[in-house]
Amino acid sequence: MRVDIVTIFPEAFAPLDLSILGRARERGLLEIVVWDLREFTTDRHRQVDDSPYGGGAGMVMKPEPFLAAVDAIRAAAPATSPRIILTSPQGERLTHALARRLAGEAHLVILCGHYEGIDERVGEGLAAEEISIGDYVLTGGELPAMVIVDAVARFIPGVVGDAQSVEADSFAEGLLDYPQYTRPAEFRGMKVPEVLLSGDHETIRRWRRAQRLHRTLVRRPDLLRVEGLSAEDRRLLQEFGLDIEP
Ligand code: SAM
Repeated sequence: MRVDIVTIFPEAFAPLDLSILGRARERGLLEIVVWDLREFTTDRHRQVDDSPYGGGAGMVMKPEPFLAAVDAIRAAAPATSPRIILTSPQGERLTHALARRLAGEAHLVILCGHYEGIDERVGEGLAAEEISIGDYVLTGGELPAMVIVDAVARFIPGVVGDAQSVEADSFAEGLLDYPQYTRPAEFRGMKVPEVLLSGDHETIRRWRRAQRLHRTLVRRPDLLRVEGLSAEDRRLLQEFGLDIEP
């Protein structure tokens, strides 16, 4: 997958060189190109913002540099038809399902706003989709762009070493993950659940599923309600003393 990011702070994207994403880039699974929006201005001051029509606080990002940047991206990758994403607190909320869908694309372009946001005609002119990373307002689109890239990249085959772990993580199958433990078996009086030391793989599998169900019911009733459990899952919760009254 190729991802182009347009920003006034290209240096903010250093974290994308690290860890799993850095390795994915080295291995050619993920190509990320960061473009400096100011390179697409035409005035002496390289101005990317201006005051809002109608008055009011703050500045608005000008449309021309964004459209010129996307023209340059299209020229640099003529074989693809990129999906264009505008980072915005007003957009569709990023979820596991949306990240998985975006991972099926060959090419994404992500535009980062600042100040009061981006001139409305950028989204319109590019038929861009707006994506929000949550119901709060950040100062700029760089962190949202990195969150989107990270969440999407995990679904690209080969990026996460063990593909099974992506499928067992929270939100896969609509459930939260089960609790994780590593050595030592006892730490400051807190013990690892006996079942995980048993070596009985079938019981461990059932215990983990019961834990996923229980955690999701308790912590995220918006994802799972007792009424929605299958008879088998109810039995599993009972087996481990985790059943919950509806
Ligand atoms: N005036 C805008 C509003 O209230 O909807 C907020 C603009 S915000 C201060 C500046 C930029 O940060 C936005 O253009 C967007 O690129 C980015 N941004 C802020 N919060 C975001 C969020 N929750 N999700 C995605 N992008 C966000």
